[in-house]
Amino acid sequence: MRRPVVMGNWKLNGSKAMVSDLIKGLDAELNGVEGVDVVIAPPVMYADLAEQLLGKATNKIFLGTQNVDVNASGAYTGDISPEMLKDFGVTHVIIGHSERREYHNESDEFVAKKFGFLKENGLIPVFCIGETEAQNEAGETKAVCARQIDAVINMHGIEALEGAIIAYEPIWAIGTGKAATAQQAQDIHAAIRAHLASYSEEVAKKVVIQYGGSVKAENAAELFAMEDIDGALVGGAALQAAGFAAIAKAAAAAKA
Ligand code: PEP
Repeated sequence: MRRPVVMGNWKLNGSKAMVSDLIKGLDAELNGVEGVDVVIAPPVMYADLAEQLLGKATNKIFLGTQNVDVNASGAYTGDISPEMLKDFGVTHVIIGHSERREYHNESDEFVAKKFGFLKENGLIPVFCIGETEAQNEAGETKAVCARQIDAVINMHGIEALEGAIIAYEPIWAIGTGKAATAQQAQDIHAAIRAHLASYSEEVAKKVVIQYGGSVKAENAAELFAMEDIDGALVGGAALQAAGFAAIAKAAAAAKA
């Protein structure tokens, strides 16, 4: 049985006051919720504050970030290393998000490098994959996901996927309010798992595959009822404590 993981990607949103209110609100909403790992990824600027607040929280909430570099130290202006993230209690790191692939020209190979560097450093990659609307309409979804996954497998081997999280995020569903239907998402998740199984059935069974793209309290239960949907990567709806907690509760209930 895979333990579901619900992660909030706060993107470029936040302030000290907002981080504080949201973490406190989320902690209160999560009382009594078990059977799901809840992760928040505020902007890295607030990792220190978030670590302090999460340390005082009643409920376990993991700290994540939205990016990492491929270098440990040195002349890499503006970049952040896995060691630095660990210094602030970070456990999960989003890589390969479509916004970074698009706006920062991150290639499959560059994302695969990040993946390996995180694993080497004992951090959990939340490895985003997914197709554009045009690729979806051209029937290329499975091939695109397989290509993105293969970049990691070719560089690090299938075993590297063990303990990592894959987030299937159709780009046309991100921030659009137009989520994939539960059945559409399940079909792709099953195909992703089958692709992993073509390398190793053992690893395929264990890998958590989150769905991301306009997940909210209203559609979460239906998505999590699907066998291969093991949680969610949540953008917009992660900025409200009650709504995000409702998604986490739905995952816990569906996978109990
Ligand atoms: C995301 O950016 O990872 C995401 C899933 O965003 P949203 O939930 O807002 O679609």
